[in-house]
Amino acid sequence: MNKNIQELVQLSSIDKKIDSFQPQIDAAQMKITKSNAKLQEARGRLEKIKGLIASNEQKIVTYEEQLRFLGEQLKNSVKKSRDISSEKEMKALAIEEDIAKEKMTFANEEIARLQEINAKKLIESQEEQGGFDLLESECSSIAADVENEKSQIETNKIGLFSDREKTIREVDQKVLAFYEKIRNWAGNSAVALVKKQACYGCYMKLNDKTYADVIRAEEITTCPHCGRILYVERESAGI
Ligand SMILES: [Zn+2]
Repeated sequence: MNKNIQELVQLSSIDKKIDSFQPQIDAAQMKITKSNAKLQEARGRLEKIKGLIASNEQKIVTYEEQLRFLGEQLKNSVKKSRDISSEKEMKALAIEEDIAKEKMTFANEEIARLQEINAKKLIESQEEQGGFDLLESECSSIAADVENEKSQIETNKIGLFSDREKTIREVDQKVLAFYEKIRNWAGNSAVALVKKQACYGCYMKLNDKTYADVIRAEEITTCPHCGRILYVERESAGI
């Protein structure tokens, strides 16, 4: 194979690897984003349950205050009843007492109902807390893994950039400029493999002459359909 083609194939393979880093970094970053989103959701659910428990406890406190107040009221009405002489006053007091008792019954029922809800919610919040703790430790282990992955990628990147530098120094400058021009639009498929007499850049079939030129590999051949630089793997060409 012509030295220029050989070097371009090598350069193109390095460029492909370099280009693959960003998607790898993005994918790694995505893992963190996803796990953080899950954690955030779990935190939201936990806070909601805790908020409900707190609000019910506040209501219970209010009902208990009301019970104390009504209890006092009943005690007072017992005192009052000793001084009452008329039947009309007696009736009015009895109505007052009934209302107070009704309110007390309602308050007691509400306290029982809210306590029952809170007992269930407490179990729910404990389960949710367990899930949250698990997610939190998962998140930090994912973050640590991703950090490792990223630093591995960085190390590989540095190695490949130095390989690229070395290769570039060897490539003929005109050939390099030609490659870069194609790379501008073709990205990392600027150098395309030919298989079964087809360009694997655009997947179009090559005519016999072009195919023969590519196999001979005496000079750089481009695809007549898409303009990419073509090469064949030696084994597949049977040479
Ligand atoms: Zn092509």
